Amino acid sequence: MGKVYIIGAGPGDPELITVKAYNILKKADVVIYDRLIPKSLLKDLKAELIYVGKEIGEANIQEHINRLLVEKAKVYDIVVRLKGGDPYVFGRGEEECIYVLSNGIECEVVPGITSAIAVPAYAGIPVTSRLTSSSSGFTVITATRAEGKIIDVDYIPKKGTLVVLMGIHVIKELESVLLKVREREEPVAIIENGTTERQRVFVGKLEDLAKIVEENNVKSPAIIVVGETVKLRDKLWKLT
Ligand code: SAH
Repeated sequence: MGKVYIIGAGPGDPELITVKAYNILKKADVVIYDRLIPKSLLKDLKAELIYVGKEIGEANIQEHINRLLVEKAKVYDIVVRLKGGDPYVFGRGEEECIYVLSNGIECEVVPGITSAIAVPAYAGIPVTSRLTSSSSGFTVITATRAEGKIIDVDYIPKKGTLVVLMGIHVIKELESVLLKVREREEPVAIIENGTTERQRVFVGKLEDLAKIVEENNVKSPAIIVVGETVKLRDKLWKLT
């Protein structure tokens, strides 16, 4: 019986994978990977490569992936589940790990650098800073819940840096939910394809969020940052 490794691939820049994850990847017999992983990590691997991004059109993709992990662990020694960013940050890595363990198969999780922190950093935006009034903390949310519904207003904190994942396809609804809690004038940044050579960054006011996304035809994957630390971008290192 083999072992399943649920591994974070980092946010996009292929060098932002951990040494531990990379070493396991090189030894893998099979790699089951998502849409958002840096494709160059798959080059020169001896492993069988299986793509399970959403577009493959399985009705219940998660169930399919769970079963695939168990099936492959019965045949191979080292089964790698390679996920974008960190497996436990809106990554459903926990569901896969629970399923694998409950089938009597060993499982190990290797955390990754999450896009929620690294993508703002590559745009010159720290998620916390004592140099701004909103130094108290940061919150990471997803714009849509499991059933595809827009996030409840109760999840939007009044203060601190707010990092929103998976928001582009519901940008208008998201803007109105955010404006119920946050100020119209608050700085906002939208970062598309962060940490890659295709990174694009747009900055403006929260009240213009949907307009900025539409005018610039911003596509997923993108991260939205709301809060004072966006302003530090002018003074900090950034990729673009
Ligand atoms: N587990 C992942 C997040 C998965 S949810 C992590 O820890 O990073 C997928 C969402 O992450 C996307 O919709 C987008 O909002 C964000 N995302 C992931 N990679 C990104 C990138 N390179 N640039 C911008 N946003 C990214």
